[in-house]
Amino acid sequence: MTTSLQHLLDANAEWATAQVDRDPEFFKRLENQQSPEYFWIGCSDSRVPANTIVNLQPGEVFVHRNVANQVFHGDLNCQSATQFAVEILKVKHIIVCGHYGCSGVRIAMRGDRVGLADAWVRPIHQLARHHGLVPAEGSDEKPCLDALCELNVIEQVKRLSESTLIEDAWDRGQDLTIHGWIYSLKDGLVRNLNMSVAGRDTIEPVYTNAVNELKKRYR
Ligand code: ZN
Repeated sequence: MTTSLQHLLDANAEWATAQVDRDPEFFKRLENQQSPEYFWIGCSDSRVPANTIVNLQPGEVFVHRNVANQVFHGDLNCQSATQFAVEILKVKHIIVCGHYGCSGVRIAMRGDRVGLADAWVRPIHQLARHHGLVPAEGSDEKPCLDALCELNVIEQVKRLSESTLIEDAWDRGQDLTIHGWIYSLKDGLVRNLNMSVAGRDTIEPVYTNAVNELKKRYR
């Protein structure tokens, strides 16, 4: 038996009508061109929708999401979205936004086996071990998980900053900054992880500082 999901189609029709009531040119404008200033790399988690949490309208943010907001140089999906954002749309800011309580990060931290996602989050497992972010047997895992969710964002910003796509953009003199943020499901607030990189020379010092700040927070 199929379900038509008519309630979603009805909701869509209502939304489209309301948009036109507020701004009659809204769709006409967007149909011709999108010119977002921001590219968002976030987690697929349904509770962290990019547009909603930073209150941006359609057309204002270009989005790529995957489990645990990962950036891999060999991931054609993420890399092609990044290339489009940087070279065609010429966004000025890339935001890597993680969130506390991320299931992907938790799986990695615990070393749980859930299926295909195990391989996807394996680098976070290694990251946790490298930085000693493994909760002691029987202890509260929350501080460890919070720290690892933050560190995961910091690592992805670093990795993205070191990609050839981004290096090329900076070498061309393109104005582009990559930021690391984390979202709290508890209060809906985004925290800046002070991992903002605007050029090749600043990657290492900004990274070192961000990791040191994190270690102080969770000492
Ligand atoms: Zn997540």
